[in-house]
Amino acid sequence: MKIHEVEARKIFEAHGLPVPPSRLVESPEVARQAAEELGCPVVVKAQVLVGGRGKAGGVKLAGTPSEAVEKAEAILGMEIKGLTVKKVLVASAVDITREFYAGLVIDRRSRKPLMMVSPAGGIDIEEVARTAPEKILKVVIDPMWGILPFQVRRMTSFLSGNRDVARQIGRALTALYRAFMAVDASLAEINPLVESPDGKVWAIDAKINIDDNGLYRQKDITELRDDSAEDEGEVEARLKGLSFVKLEGNVGCIVNGAGLAMATMDMIKHYGAEPANFLDIGGSSSPEKVLAAMHIILRDRNVRSILINIFGGITRCDDVAAGLIEARKQLGIDVPLVVRLTGTNEDKARELLGGTELIPAATMDEGVRKAIEMARA
Ligand code: GDP
Ligand code: MN
Repeated sequence: MKIHEVEARKIFEAHGLPVPPSRLVESPEVARQAAEELGCPVVVKAQVLVGGRGKAGGVKLAGTPSEAVEKAEAILGMEIKGLTVKKVLVASAVDITREFYAGLVIDRRSRKPLMMVSPAGGIDIEEVARTAPEKILKVVIDPMWGILPFQVRRMTSFLSGNRDVARQIGRALTALYRAFMAVDASLAEINPLVESPDGKVWAIDAKINIDDNGLYRQKDITELRDDSAEDEGEVEARLKGLSFVKLEGNVGCIVNGAGLAMATMDMIKHYGAEPANFLDIGGSSSPEKVLAAMHIILRDRNVRSILINIFGGITRCDDVAAGLIEARKQLGIDVPLVVRLTGTNEDKARELLGGTELIPAATMDEGVRKAIEMARA
C-alpha cells in the first residue's frame, strides 16, 4: 500500500530523520498562511501517489507568501500521470549543495532488507542504476542484528568526505532503517537526502510503501489508504476479498488458489497468448465471489474471452456454476466463457451448466487452448 509524502514525512520524523517543517493545505489561501507561518522560501508539492512529481511540474519553489499562493493555484487541480492533485504540501525549502539517494527495499535474493545509497540523488534511481551502476552502493542488512556501525561507515564514506556531514548521514540511515522496520515497509526512500550550504543534512522527500501483509498490525497506517491511485478493479477486488492483479493480455481468468492461478497464467503464455489478469477467488468461494470476479474482469475492455478454471476441493463446483449463471443473468456478458470445473460436486455443476452457452472443457489444457482460440476469433 502506498502512502502520501506528508504521511511518510511524519513517520520519518518520528524516527529521528531531519525533515523540514511543513503544512498540508487544500486551498491557495491556506497556502499563504502556511508560507507565512513557516517563513519563506517554501516549496509547494503536489500530494499524489506517483513519483516524478518534480518533472511533471508538481513541485515548485516560492520566495514569498504570495508566490506560494500562485504556485498552489497552479498545482492544485493539476493532473499528474492520470491523478488529480487535491492537496499540496507547503514545506520550508532547503538550499541544496548536494543531493544523495538513500532507499531500503526487501531484497528477494537475500530475503533481507537491502539499503541502497548513491551520491547521485535527486533523479530516478533506476536511471542511475542503468547508466552509472558504480554510483550505487548496496548493503544487505540482517534483521537479526539490525544496521551495524561498520555498514553505516561504509555507506557514509561512500557518500561524503566531510566528517560532520557523514555523521549526520549515518544517523539518517540508521533512522531510515528503524522507520522501515517499524511500519512493515516494503520500500522506504529519501530522494533526495540533501546537504545544505551550512553543512546540514535534510530529508526533503519521503516515500514509503507498506507491505500489505503487515497491514493487519499497522492499524493507524491502514486508515491512511488513498485508493484513487489504484486500479478500480483492484480496489473492488480487495473490498470483495479476492486477490486480483490486472495484466495487459486479453484472456481473462478466474481461478481458485494462487498456485493454480499462476499455473493457468503460465499455460496461457505457453500457448502463445497473454493473460488479462491474475485472479484467485480463494477457497470456499460463494456464488457472490464469482459474480464479483466476473464484474471486475469485464470492466477491462481488452478481455476477449474468460477461462474459469476451478479445482474443486473446499471450493464447490456447483457454487461456482451458480455464480456463473447469476453473472450471465446480471451482467451483459459479450465474451465467450470457457469453463473447466473438476472436483467436489462437479456433476451438479455440469447439470446446472447444461444447455447454457458456456463452453465446457474437460481438462485445463483444453480449457486454456479453447479460451485462447476464442480470444483470437
Ligand atoms: P519527486 O519529483 O516526486 O521525487 O519530488 P521531490 O520532492 O524529490 O522534488 C523534486 C525536486 O524538487 C528535487 O529533486 C529538488 O531538486 C527540488 N526540491 C524539492 N524540495 C526542494 C527544496 O526544499 N529546496 C530546493 N532547492 N529544491 C527542492
Ligand atoms: Mn523525490
